[in-house]
Amino acid sequence: MSGLEQHRKMKPSSYAIIEPEEATLLIMSNVRVLEAEETKLEEGLGRILAEDIYSTLDMPPFDATAVDGYALQSSDDLRQRRIIGEQTAGRITHQRVEPGTAIRIMTGAPMPEGADAVVMVEYTREKDGLLEVDSAPNPGNNIRPRSEDLQSGQLILKAGTLLGPAELGLLATTGLALIKLIRRPRLAVISTGDEIVEPGKLLAPGQIYDSNRFGLMAAVAQAYAEPFSLGIAPDTEAGLRNLIEVALRNYDGLITSGGVSVGKLDLMKDLLEELGTIHFGRVNLRPGKPLTFVTVAVEEQTKPIFALPGFPVASLVSFELFARPAILKMGGHIHVQRPRVQARLAHSLTHSRERNEFVRAVVTQEFEPSSGGSYYYTARTTGSQSSGRLLSMLGANALLHLAPGEKILEEGEVVPAILLTDVPIMKM
Ligand code: AMP
Ligand code: MG
Repeated sequence: MSGLEQHRKMKPSSYAIIEPEEATLLIMSNVRVLEAEETKLEEGLGRILAEDIYSTLDMPPFDATAVDGYALQSSDDLRQRRIIGEQTAGRITHQRVEPGTAIRIMTGAPMPEGADAVVMVEYTREKDGLLEVDSAPNPGNNIRPRSEDLQSGQLILKAGTLLGPAELGLLATTGLALIKLIRRPRLAVISTGDEIVEPGKLLAPGQIYDSNRFGLMAAVAQAYAEPFSLGIAPDTEAGLRNLIEVALRNYDGLITSGGVSVGKLDLMKDLLEELGTIHFGRVNLRPGKPLTFVTVAVEEQTKPIFALPGFPVASLVSFELFARPAILKMGGHIHVQRPRVQARLAHSLTHSRERNEFVRAVVTQEFEPSSGGSYYYTARTTGSQSSGRLLSMLGANALLHLAPGEKILEEGEVVPAILLTDVPIMKM
């Protein structure tokens, strides 16, 4: 047996270190939006519409009552009206409201012929088949006229729209069951390393459990894509090559972790050089410097490989900063960046002279009565930022971007924060 691993030595990396902004540009210009497919409405959450949608009907499709009450003629000056029938939602009554009469009517029901207003049940009394109303209604009261919300032929959603609860509800309103959406990206996830063991199995001396694959699969799912686990590759050329080839054949892209550093058995970069184009092999980043981005031509498609560093925090942070926006783009998303805010440091921080640091932090919104009741953001880091310490990501809702610099950042200084989830509001 002979593989890359046989005669390899440790050697310093020959890849240029590029800046994070350049890495983002290279990635975003080398991933493509996937094609569209007919999709069931219930599979639309978080996906992107690939066609303009026009309403095929009026909404409401008929004049309807907006309340429970009585349909009547507003011009009647009678205080008492005879109740001649009942109209519930989903039915049509063939009774007509004539002067001096009323029809009991339930929210959503079509207006009966002859009536031009509805009086809410709260402003009426009914006795022995007779209706008394407290005050005379005006024409049109409590009626939702036909096509008040939507008109047939109206453009309701544009191609490129992200589907959330309101959009999906609106599509259903128009009666659509199938819509054209950008396909959800399907991404293979591989861990690498002779020391890495599947959770649930026993550990031998020198081994550790695979944490990266589980974190990364969850992160893929949060990017509205589908993760597929291909397991753990050993530190051999044949083992790695085999899993990478399976991934490239069957999925839209691949996320790996480990094996991109400069150790004797970090084979990933040499192998990827043979398989495709390495766009970069190092980024001026902490954590995550050995991050490697590759594309491989497979039949008609160009498929991305994100070869992430092995340390658990480095893999998740570099995924968040570089793979997530690319996966969102593949899924057709236009807004691929997280929101950024300026946050005041709750304590002092030292930072790296030469690297961009992305520090895990808890950002909160604080209320400041003295400044006229405004809110501002505060950031506290999550303790030791060692890139193997997954605990530094627990509870973190932001990454503080500390650009390279000489000085210590003091408490109260303002730094840019990338928000990863919701921000809690603290009242002081
Ligand atoms: P590597 O870049 O492969 O040398 O990995 C760097 C560090 O991350 C080593 O301490 C590995 O044991 C660790 N590591 C790599 N892959 C994983 C994984 N899937 N889960 C947990 N730790 C990992
Ligand atoms: Mg390794």
